[in-house]
Amino acid sequence: MILILKPNTDTNSDECRQLQAQLAGLPNIDTRIHQVHGAEQTLTEIYLIGNTQALDPDEMQQLPCVERVVRISEEYRILGRHQDDERSIDFEYNGIRFSQDTLHVFAGLCAVDTPEHVEIMVQALNRLGQQCTRMGAFKPRTSPYSFQGHGAKCLPWVFELAGKHGIRVIAMEVTHESHLDAIGQALEQSGHPTGVMLQIGTRNTQNFELLKYVGRQVEHPVLLKRGFGITLEESLNAAEYLASEGNSHVIFGLRGMKTNMGDPHRNFVDFSHVPVIKRLTRMPVCIDPSHSVGSRAHAPDRILDILHVTAQGIIAGANMVLADFHPAPDKALVDGPQALHMDELEYFLQDIDIARKAYLQRVTLAAAQHGG
Ligand code: PEP
Ligand code: MN
Repeated sequence: MILILKPNTDTNSDECRQLQAQLAGLPNIDTRIHQVHGAEQTLTEIYLIGNTQALDPDEMQQLPCVERVVRISEEYRILGRHQDDERSIDFEYNGIRFSQDTLHVFAGLCAVDTPEHVEIMVQALNRLGQQCTRMGAFKPRTSPYSFQGHGAKCLPWVFELAGKHGIRVIAMEVTHESHLDAIGQALEQSGHPTGVMLQIGTRNTQNFELLKYVGRQVEHPVLLKRGFGITLEESLNAAEYLASEGNSHVIFGLRGMKTNMGDPHRNFVDFSHVPVIKRLTRMPVCIDPSHSVGSRAHAPDRILDILHVTAQGIIAGANMVLADFHPAPDKALVDGPQALHMDELEYFLQDIDIARKAYLQRVTLAAAQHGG
């Protein structure tokens, strides 16, 4: 059960202390306080853990400071959408807002290679009004003999170049807890020119110790990719690991499932699950068309499959797009064949705009159909 307190409740006020004392007196119930600091208000939620079946929601509603009571019926306690629960994960990071209503494009390099390529990328994004990108420094590779990413040593110049060209958030994969420390140190040393959204890749979706470590820090939001060979429920529980450790600023990423039923795509595109994630949880949903499709194949209409599936995800309400670009795909050290070209960036963004407008029109139409 969750007690949602009135906005801006001071947890040290007499009234709130009285509430906490009453909760402490409940048998076999532990409490955990969770605060969300928004731009205009601070929301405090108190999670009641234990034998909550015995509690009467109407009585709990009468307790001091309590605005609303949500009975948790699902297993995703923090990130889940419970009965009559209209809350959404809604947070701002480095000046950019993320929720189930927003849309941000993270176009960038799958793997950082040279400062020249990073600069071409962020410059182009800046010219087109973009403030987010993706940059891989720690690459989880199938073969130990493949390029593993430049690692910590590229971070200072990547952050500096990103900041210089107005990038506010970089999605960057971490595969080990030491990578968080490296990112923190490089940001500190370079004077925080940009921000980092930590990405946990599909190969680490169930790396529970990594999830716990990343969940214990609240400085960076987290993009958790769906595991490519496990059930949706298992992946959503993995997201809950992050939240249960303290970080609920989690975005859930769809990147296709590993099965030859998806051939000739690299993975079976699963963007039809965008509305499912939004219904089951309050997390913003990201789609990764590059790793889903894995090639530059196109249909007779001349539209690349990558663009087709991007539009399909966005028209279904996706909140974030992670896409591989490269200034010289032939020279890319990782995933060159699926990279979009720099002269396709503006076109890609325009195509996304069309799909987003169509999605918003569909929402308006659905509201009219159901009486506003
Ligand atoms: C990536 O985004 O570069 C990546 C490796 O993705 P995934 O974990 O989905 O394979
Ligand atoms: Mn890749």
